[in-house]
Amino acid sequence: MRILLVEDEKGVAGFIKKGLEDELYTVDISEDGHEGLSLAAMNQYDLIILDVMLPGLNGIEVCRQIRKQGLKTPVMMLTAKDSVTDKVLGLDSGADDYLTKPFLFEEFLARVRALTRRKTIEIVELSCNELRLDVRSHKAYVGEREIILRPKEFAIIECLLRNKGHVLSRTQIMENIWGYNFDTITNIVDVHINAIREKFSQVCDRDYIRTVRGIGYTVDCN
Ligand code: CA
Repeated sequence: MRILLVEDEKGVAGFIKKGLEDELYTVDISEDGHEGLSLAAMNQYDLIILDVMLPGLNGIEVCRQIRKQGLKTPVMMLTAKDSVTDKVLGLDSGADDYLTKPFLFEEFLARVRALTRRKTIEIVELSCNELRLDVRSHKAYVGEREIILRPKEFAIIECLLRNKGHVLSRTQIMENIWGYNFDTITNIVDVHINAIREKFSQVCDRDYIRTVRGIGYTVDCN
């Protein structure tokens, strides 16, 4: 699950990012309305969280533009203000939910879960030949045998399965799992793919991940 957080207060943004990452969400942060809008258009997010008071373009305007572009991504508005006018403006601009700062993190998380659930409720299991992923419990199986994957390993195989039939570049995988702000160029994707392959090789004699030379990776369901 990948979330875009547009929030210019570094402390708040860092706190929210850390809390969401503990819950295994991938978080991209933008501190500016214009940049947030272009990230929203460029990447596929499961949720966009917008602060209202932002430099460049305010959150309400960002939300309006997002809807104008036809993006259906759920949007949560955050603001320090607690006036009815702001809530109405926020919701009228196309936001799905509204939370006033300061908030309890537990409540915030519950709302994030509710907003992201809407989109993913139908997809609880992903499969490819004998490989099955239970997206809710984060468990992976080949046939009847469970494969114990680390969270990032699970996220990579989930990402590949959600994009079955497509080849994903290392950058696309990295952005999906580690986020847009992940600025180190390393072989981190390859390292994780090797680890996943090693685990698969212990339970079956086929490789579910195919390397496409010069491009990236895809799942092999044949
Ligand atoms: Ca702000």
